[in-house]
Amino acid sequence: MKCWVCSRDARGFGHTDNRYAVVDPRRYPIDWAFCSSRCQAAFHALYGNWVAVRRGEIGSEEVTVVDASEIERASMRRCLRAFGEAGSAIGFDKPLGQYTEAEALQVVDAIVTCYTEAMVEHHEATKFPPVRGMAPVPDPLVVPFADMTSEAPWEEATR
Ligand SMILES: [Zn+2]
Repeated sequence: MKCWVCSRDARGFGHTDNRYAVVDPRRYPIDWAFCSSRCQAAFHALYGNWVAVRRGEIGSEEVTVVDASEIERASMRRCLRAFGEAGSAIGFDKPLGQYTEAEALQVVDAIVTCYTEAMVEHHEATKFPPVRGMAPVPDPLVVPFADMTSEAPWEEATR
């Protein structure tokens, strides 16, 4: 069983869906499992916002729907630095085939730790859960304005 937020092994944190009666299986969603109270809280906030939008209690204009695989790719991109630092500590001139098990694990640990952190941070910073199969929107993990060619295009427009 994987944590819904960060994909680490779940460790007994969960949620019940109290809209359903105790005898109703829908009260116990099996994929609402978490590794920590941090991830549990992130999920709770996301789900609460989602329910509020469905009920019309808050506006849906600001809902940004992010494809989960996009979040995963952005989290992987964020691991490049961790990978580089771990590789630099070992030495870039050393071929991968000559890594000791400890050195290989050092690189794996750097990447996995960074990845799970990036996933949790994304879900903590996001207001609504990602929904697969819907139109993608700019990923908040990507540096804003990274695709801009000019440093300040709005200044050009006023010139
Ligand atoms: Zn987690």
